[in-house]
Amino acid sequence: MKLLFKFILPLTLAAFVTSCATHAPTHGTSTTYSRGLDVYGHRPGPKGFRTVIIDAGHGGKDSGASSPHTGQMEKQLTLDTAKRLAAQLSGDFHVVLMRSDDTFVELDDRVARADHYPDGILVSIHYNSGPSNLRGPESYYWRVDSHGLAVRCQQALNQVCAVKSGNRGMVRRHIRLTRNPQIPCLLLECGYISNAAESRLCADPAYRQKLAVAIAGAIRTQAAIGDAGTGPLPAPINSPPSSAHDPRQ
Ligand SMILES: [Zn+2]
Repeated sequence: MKLLFKFILPLTLAAFVTSCATHAPTHGTSTTYSRGLDVYGHRPGPKGFRTVIIDAGHGGKDSGASSPHTGQMEKQLTLDTAKRLAAQLSGDFHVVLMRSDDTFVELDDRVARADHYPDGILVSIHYNSGPSNLRGPESYYWRVDSHGLAVRCQQALNQVCAVKSGNRGMVRRHIRLTRNPQIPCLLLECGYISNAAESRLCADPAYRQKLAVAIAGAIRTQAAIGDAGTGPLPAPINSPPSSAHDPRQ
């Protein structure tokens, strides 16, 4: 399959950002889906988008978590999964990889690069670490316009992950990659590599392929029907952008 991986240019055009800012309110039963940049994301989730920015978490000097069971580093698993997801989507979407090799990219730079695509969505791929008994996927979101896609991704990952234990599922958390981009954005924790059994699953390329296929399906469904069937939107919360000093980064 021909892949159209493109590296993104640094965001420099602040005036462009301002001119693209839109607010898409709902009126009665008719729904206007989010398009363009929006600071708070207090709007329904996107429909009909054509650009998907895939962020492989960590990279370079930042290895992320590492599995005590397989020795694999999170940054390796995220890059592999991101590329698999890109391969799934590239026929139907303009796919942008935040990084395509073992490169370190600052979180704030990831945000700025994502905002270069006002009609896109951002999906950041991670693998989790915690107490050894925890296993299962988690989907982090903050913005109202990211809720529906988070629901779809969590449901899809749950289908792949047969055994779960103590995982939090959907989590509304204010972190840089869920709060600061001006487009719908998610952070997916695909599994706990601190858990012996789940780390062995995540070390299997065939399992990561299943995860990528599942996430791709969720993105396709969101693009086709927006938030339909994903339940009520969460309450809007006005909050300042997250920073490196935020204790929950
Ligand atoms: Zn991570």
